[in-house]
Amino acid sequence: MLNVVPKGSGWVEVICGCMFSGKTEELIRRLRRARIARQDVVIFKPAVDVRYDEEEIVSHSEQRLRSTVVRDAREIEDSVGSEQVIGIDEAQFIPGDLTGAVRRLANGGRRVIVAGLDTDYRGRPFEPIDSLMCEAEVVTKLLAVCHRCGAPAHRTQRIGGGRERVIVGGQAMYEARCRRCFEPPDEEGEPRGQIRLFDE
Ligand code: ADP
Ligand code: MG
Ligand code: ZN
Repeated sequence: MLNVVPKGSGWVEVICGCMFSGKTEELIRRLRRARIARQDVVIFKPAVDVRYDEEEIVSHSEQRLRSTVVRDAREIEDSVGSEQVIGIDEAQFIPGDLTGAVRRLANGGRRVIVAGLDTDYRGRPFEPIDSLMCEAEVVTKLLAVCHRCGAPAHRTQRIGGGRERVIVGGQAMYEARCRRCFEPPDEEGEPRGQIRLFDE
């Protein structure tokens, strides 16, 4: 976490990691503390992430905070008023120039905290989290617990579901996996380790 809080300037924090690593929990924790410090906070999430609630960010552990749904990065810039602290969850699903938007907001004096997946289900960088990590003053990478063996996990394993990069799902479709247990998809992106209901 931040040991030194910049004074009189904006900055960018990135919270990244695989699914179940606690990104949303950590984002909520930081935003709640900002509110305790009587700072005005605004929270955004992409329209695609409607897994739990349309107007809240929700962690797998059921912590939640009110948020505003946006369709792209420009909508974030347009919606920010006098708030000093901006939280963005599931940032990898927000279309448009999010890195540019975040840079401009931070340059304008705001603290911007961005949470998102650093890699996709193939283990490849998930833009724009990679460029946001370069933009950030502070990057926190969290680990989950491997669903298979209990080791620290940094990969998101898709269990069935197809080859598209974005398929929104929870426990039924994804697992956190460690380096040893992660089964990368084949060249075409077909997920491995599928759940078979019947022997084929
Ligand atoms: P993320 O936003 O990174 O997907 P969340 O903050 O929503 O993660 O959820 C983190 C919480 O999920 C943990 O505190 C724990 O209660 C729960 N959880 C469920 N499965 C796992 C797992 N395999 N590893 C770690 N936490 C898990
Ligand atoms: Mg999350
Ligand atoms: Zn493992």
